[in-house]
Amino acid sequence: MGEQEEQVEGSAGASEVAFDPPADLATRSIRRELTLWYASNKRDLPWRRTSDPYAIWVSEAMLQQTRVETVKEYWPRFLERFPTASALAAAEEEAVLEAWSGLGYYRRARSLQAAARVIAEEHGGVFPKDLGAALDLPGVGPYTAGAVVSIAYDVPAPLVDGNVERVFARLFGMEGIRGSGPLGRACWAAADHFIERLEGAVSPSVWNQALMELGALVCTPRAPRCEECPLASACVARARGNAVGIPRPKPRRASTEVELEIYVIERGGRWLLEQRPDGGLMGGMWQFPTVEVTSSGLFPDELAPELSAAVEPEHDLIALSHGITHHRIRARVRSARLATKGEGAAAWFAPAEAADLALTGMARKVAERLAPARDPLFDGT
Ligand code: SF4
Repeated sequence: MGEQEEQVEGSAGASEVAFDPPADLATRSIRRELTLWYASNKRDLPWRRTSDPYAIWVSEAMLQQTRVETVKEYWPRFLERFPTASALAAAEEEAVLEAWSGLGYYRRARSLQAAARVIAEEHGGVFPKDLGAALDLPGVGPYTAGAVVSIAYDVPAPLVDGNVERVFARLFGMEGIRGSGPLGRACWAAADHFIERLEGAVSPSVWNQALMELGALVCTPRAPRCEECPLASACVARARGNAVGIPRPKPRRASTEVELEIYVIERGGRWLLEQRPDGGLMGGMWQFPTVEVTSSGLFPDELAPELSAAVEPEHDLIALSHGITHHRIRARVRSARLATKGEGAAAWFAPAEAADLALTGMARKVAERLAPARDPLFDGT
């Protein structure tokens, strides 16, 4: 958990990474040391107190690319609002995005609801126990399928996430780039090796969670605590003294600078917000009218151009910066007025009403900065 599935399901290309399976004795020793360590060191996380596959699945979806502490806040609220897969399937997409707002990567929320609809229609509202059926759900990849069926149903399904990849790569001294196809395949082979040899001595749920927990707490990316590690005596990276260098980092991708103008149009204490079209980037979410500033002029947001094109800016309010994946965004937030009648897919909202919408991350920042002066009821959280 905690990292994108794509990171360990990459495509072919670079040279293959070898996984040499350890002998039976070493396999048993690793299994025993790790599960003993887990029994006395595991964190008391809320989603570990349930065996409800739906609740576990929601936690796994949230934990991809979101910190545990943040998920602790959102997970119970989301389950209170959508307590079953059938409830999630029947909900308005807008309500789901709103409940997800703040976790980012909204594609995860849409995939979750799409899969919930299949679960409601084809599986009687229950997340499937069969690994193949779980893998057939939209947006559910090998990591999530393995995590849910092993943790909720104790099915011996392997899994590899970023934490497990790091533990295996270091333990077996695998050369390879983090998140690459060759390293991913070698780690899945290692995961298969161990899950097939639990021999009834250890539950698949415990084994998989122990592996992930070691990566989260001890075998951490930048400061592994090898002196506290239950696998230290078997670890190749530790013996070589280069744990931090394994796995090798991905080549850095330069980030793109984006400059925006964001327009705050007020009428009777309400803001005019526009909804981004479905299917595009951040589809269905609400934002203040926005244009991109380029060296050749101002361009309306190409995905939501209607309203932005009809705006006349007035004076500057605030400046903000925001980061999304490989984009560094700087925004000049300006008051404005509407020059034409056309409002497109837009509507007027009081600040307190806006707080309940699925806002883009940037729109939420603007609203949080401007709302207190307008409406003390605004709660941007
Ligand atoms: Fe990771 Fe160090 Fe343990 Fe090896 S000994 S698995 S590098 S924490």
